[in-house]
Amino acid sequence: MKPEDLVRPEILALKAYPVPSSGGMVKLDAMENPYTLPEALRRELAAVLARVDLNRYPTPSPQQLREAIARRMNVPAGMEVLLGNGSDELIQMLITALARPGAAMMYPSPTFVMYAMGATFSGMRAVPVALREDFSLDADAFIARMRAEKPALVFLAYPNNPTGVLYPERDVLEIIKACPGLVVLDEAYHVFAGKSFLPRLAEFDNLVVIRTVSKLGLAGIRLGYLVGRPEWVAQLDKVRPPYNVSVLTQAAALFMLERLDVLEDQASLILSERNSLGEHLKALKGVTVFPSEANFLLIRVPDAERTYRALKQQNVLVRNLSPAILNCLRVTVGTPDENRILVTALREALS
Ligand code: PMP
Repeated sequence: MKPEDLVRPEILALKAYPVPSSGGMVKLDAMENPYTLPEALRRELAAVLARVDLNRYPTPSPQQLREAIARRMNVPAGMEVLLGNGSDELIQMLITALARPGAAMMYPSPTFVMYAMGATFSGMRAVPVALREDFSLDADAFIARMRAEKPALVFLAYPNNPTGVLYPERDVLEIIKACPGLVVLDEAYHVFAGKSFLPRLAEFDNLVVIRTVSKLGLAGIRLGYLVGRPEWVAQLDKVRPPYNVSVLTQAAALFMLERLDVLEDQASLILSERNSLGEHLKALKGVTVFPSEANFLLIRVPDAERTYRALKQQNVLVRNLSPAILNCLRVTVGTPDENRILVTALREALS
């Protein structure tokens, strides 16, 4: 038997999400926080994890963790928290729940690829709406298209990945108000942007916010959370795989939520590094740096494929977005040392 005879054609046509091997490289491709935890904290965490009973399934809907997130992340009263194995899983859950036959999903494009992938997995009709040349959002065009397509689901990454652009608040508001379906505001990078719709959730019955602890410095534990009205959370919870947040993740997250200042301090370092990295990159001949409100920078070079390969040869891993976004590379902000290595390698690559 051949898989090709049975697997759906749209899955056969897909390429798996690309994750290149990065052993021994300066890893600036995945928007991770480059800093590890201080040694004393690692030891404390190890002791906490050592007490976790691995023989038992996790609590199916971990109330303690949901409450800790609600408290530490200032979730407004009346809103509920739903947990995912990364926000990737929340995206998939939202799509699974809303993918009625023929239903459309809309998003500005380019954006995070998992929205389109999820649409394909679940047979939703994906309707990307092109951003302008400078990656700003044409809200009027988006709204006009919403009127025509009547999407059940709209994804807005706020700020956007891979462009780093934070859409103006009033444009997002207009889209929420005009949307006949559910708007998902994906605030994966909110710690860097400092803007959020979380406090305004109660104003809309068609809005949920998703976030992740990944960019804050906990990408390895795989934890995302959705905040929304209880009516939405109750429905979405039905498609959540049981036990989707492991006991180790729960324990590590509870531990770190009480020590968020450590991660927030790291985020401030990353922010100030983003600004100086941006300046250094701008000074390189032939490099355009797009403004970013996240922990990465989108840059345009004369020949992205060539530059990507030259950087890789110098052990620096970034993300090549070309040809989809012509001649653009996305570089994650690293430590000061990593950023220096990047700038030196890039200067060499461009010479
Ligand atoms: N949303 C956006 C906009 C992202 O860029 C990412 C990760 N690159 C995610 C969601 C997924 O994050 P995670 O699954 O690690 O929570």
